[in-house]
Amino acid sequence: MLTAVLLAVPGLATAQTVIEPPETKYSIEEDVAIGEEAAEQVRQQLPAFENDAVEYYVTRLGERLVEAIPSEFMHPEFAYTFEVVDEDGINAFALPGGPMFLHRGMLEAALTEGGIAGVMAHEISHVALRHGTAQATRGEKFQWGALAGTIAGAVIGGTAGRAVMEGTSFGLGAFFLKYGREFEKQADLLGARVMASAGYDPRELATMFELIEQQNRSGAPEWLSSHPNPGNRSEYIAVEAELLTIDDPVTDTREFERIQASLNGEAVPITAEGAVSGTRPERPDTDTQYYEVAGVYAVDVPKNWIELPGAEAITFSPEDGHIRTRNQSSFSHGVQIGMAERAGGNLAQVHAAFSESLTAGNPQMQATGGAAQQYLAGRRAYLTIFTNFSEATGWQETVMISTTILPDGRLLYLIAVSPEDEYADYAQTFGELTRSVRLLPK
Ligand SMILES: [Zn+2]
Repeated sequence: MLTAVLLAVPGLATAQTVIEPPETKYSIEEDVAIGEEAAEQVRQQLPAFENDAVEYYVTRLGERLVEAIPSEFMHPEFAYTFEVVDEDGINAFALPGGPMFLHRGMLEAALTEGGIAGVMAHEISHVALRHGTAQATRGEKFQWGALAGTIAGAVIGGTAGRAVMEGTSFGLGAFFLKYGREFEKQADLLGARVMASAGYDPRELATMFELIEQQNRSGAPEWLSSHPNPGNRSEYIAVEAELLTIDDPVTDTREFERIQASLNGEAVPITAEGAVSGTRPERPDTDTQYYEVAGVYAVDVPKNWIELPGAEAITFSPEDGHIRTRNQSSFSHGVQIGMAERAGGNLAQVHAAFSESLTAGNPQMQATGGAAQQYLAGRRAYLTIFTNFSEATGWQETVMISTTILPDGRLLYLIAVSPEDEYADYAQTFGELTRSVRLLPK
């Protein structure tokens, strides 16, 4: 009824719709444990879409949205994570406590970054409002049948046992995903608020849902069955949007365009101008940020560099200092650190073999001299400096490769890259970063 009044009197100063999270008899810790367990099930059942650039993109977008959750719905115990599954359907779902799964098809179908943000903000809102376990709370009252099997086991195990028992079937995971109209509307309204504070127009949420409804009519109905339209969805979102101010609007969505192009299998240069004129990122900060990687080592990285996780290696690079395509990411400025199994051999042999594996993939890469001894992670290491012509950027670049052997026998490598004409600005950063790598205590 409130919506009708607001529509009739658009100029009326009024308050946003009050959102009252539904009751749940589960603890915050149970939300987290149930969600983690269900997420494990999901990972076993749905194929992961393994693309670092895409995962990195949705993670950054998701984190931006999570930061915009109003403080009253912020649960510091929750860990919001964002994974992409290799499914065509336009769908996404989130589990109690924060694990979110996005279908590749949803990312491909979105017309704007705001559309993806809308779906994610809606899902984040279900999590923040604890709709999953609230639904289960109601389910126990009204749908004993659905939960009986798992609840029975719960009596024995206390909190953890109960959580584990309840999360042990993907069927139950799916149970959490089907929401009623009341919860849907709440997730829309909170989602609209989250979007606005994260810099997106909440109406894009409505637009995306309309798109999903159109597409799902002809194809996969998953989204609609788990997120039914409570009725007048677009209208009440538009009304709520009128009451919201979009903070610091997001205008640069080049990353979205890159990601969509990469999903279509195109290689996309970092600049709009074309592959031969790469962007010159800003100089590395002297202030550093601490990272721990895989429980093995720590490293201090310039504050204005970002982390690009990968399967074997992690890359630290400034914004605009990397290029991503469907199958690989490459970087023009920054440092990649990775670990690899080695077949055997001493450090000199391992270093030579590793360097050769890189020159094989980069035919224009040539060593400028022999291998020098240095230290990496407090261990004896070899360092070779190469020069390379990068076809992607059109630059002559300097590449430093350093390798050492870890106590567990694996190879630890560090590759630093900058354009040759910027090397003077990067050499010191590379040196400091290399010296900062240290092994974590076991
Ligand atoms: Zn929903």
